[in-house]
Amino acid sequence: MSTAIQKRKLSTGLAVTQKVFVRSRNGGALKIVREHYLRDDIPCSSQSCDKCTDFYFLDASTGEITKPVLSDSPLDLKGKADIGKHYVMLDTNVVLNAIDMLESDAVFYDVIVPQTVLEEVKNKSFAIYLRLRTLCKNEEKRVVVFHNEFKTDSYLAREKGEIINDYNDRLIRNCAKFYTSHLKDTGISVVLLTNDKANIEKARADDVKVMTLEDYVSLLPNATELQDMLPSSDGFSAKLTEIKYPEYYTTARLMGGIKNGSLYQGNISVSSYNFLEGSVNVSSLPKPLLILGRENLNRAFNGDSVVVQILPKSQWKKPSTEIVDEETINKNAVGDDNEDEVVISDEERRLLAQEAIRVQGGDVEEEKRIVPTGRVVGILKRSWRLYVGQLAPNSVNPNQVGEELKNWLVRE
Ligand SMILES: [Zn+2]
Repeated sequence: MSTAIQKRKLSTGLAVTQKVFVRSRNGGALKIVREHYLRDDIPCSSQSCDKCTDFYFLDASTGEITKPVLSDSPLDLKGKADIGKHYVMLDTNVVLNAIDMLESDAVFYDVIVPQTVLEEVKNKSFAIYLRLRTLCKNEEKRVVVFHNEFKTDSYLAREKGEIINDYNDRLIRNCAKFYTSHLKDTGISVVLLTNDKANIEKARADDVKVMTLEDYVSLLPNATELQDMLPSSDGFSAKLTEIKYPEYYTTARLMGGIKNGSLYQGNISVSSYNFLEGSVNVSSLPKPLLILGRENLNRAFNGDSVVVQILPKSQWKKPSTEIVDEETINKNAVGDDNEDEVVISDEERRLLAQEAIRVQGGDVEEEKRIVPTGRVVGILKRSWRLYVGQLAPNSVNPNQVGEELKNWLVRE
């Protein structure tokens, strides 16, 4: 990929024309020309700044003049780590991992989110992006998005061969650098929070005040209270945990399996008391086959026409297993997944079915009964039309839904 950049003056500011060559599907080069307008009149949004006064404008959507959001008397750490009165700027991973903290009213007021970070968050987790947008509307928290990539003073062109992550980190550091010098006369500093070691070193070299989230929180007056809210340190290295589901079987495998009796077709009902528990009516079994846990439900929705297989006996529901614990079930399912792919033949599946019929039909008291369980391996027909819903972004724990929520929202 090669980028040629030309600059030319426009009345509104500087326009950067980027000619980006990307590889097209058939391998040829595809030229995309992007006009990127740089402006001088983007305000820093600090109430202490008198350089940006003219940049606030009449917002046609609200009929009001935009106002600086960041307080003129932000939190003062009184010389601790040379910080004093300061605004906080966050990098992408801090937002992704500490969004709960950001939303808390115990910490994080006067926060700057570079546009680069907002975009990265949007790409990585749509749910957290929505939460961040909601936060920006919360007047008490004073969280602003700064359009660093459109401001002449904070924009940087991407270097030839520079990978996008490095470029974004460089943009974020430059944004912090811009604020630091822009607010120099106000006595307010900007602290960039990032847990990325290389980023910290480079920011220090640029004379940017930079800290890890943990170090920053440890300086706060209510540090003890906040300790519990810190994301675990492995959270940062693991990034967001995405839920992995077993892949659906191919149509040929589904049809073959249904035909030879190793797979079954039926409609799934998901329990209205426990969304991690479902059952599928299978014509060859005396009772519905129980489906437990997220992995085994495998993205099936109530009413879907699904194809299921019977799980090995070790994963059947033991007598008096009371509550479906998502963790345990998923652990089991993941652990046994590959094994059962390899080990269980169609013949063994048919034997399992016979065993299931025997167990289901047995004259055993309810609580002493072992219950055969299965897994969804394919969806024949969705029942989407049943779903009309509303999601409040704040009600969702993105660590649990991740990309699924994103897909769901897009589909709705
Ligand atoms: Zn300003």
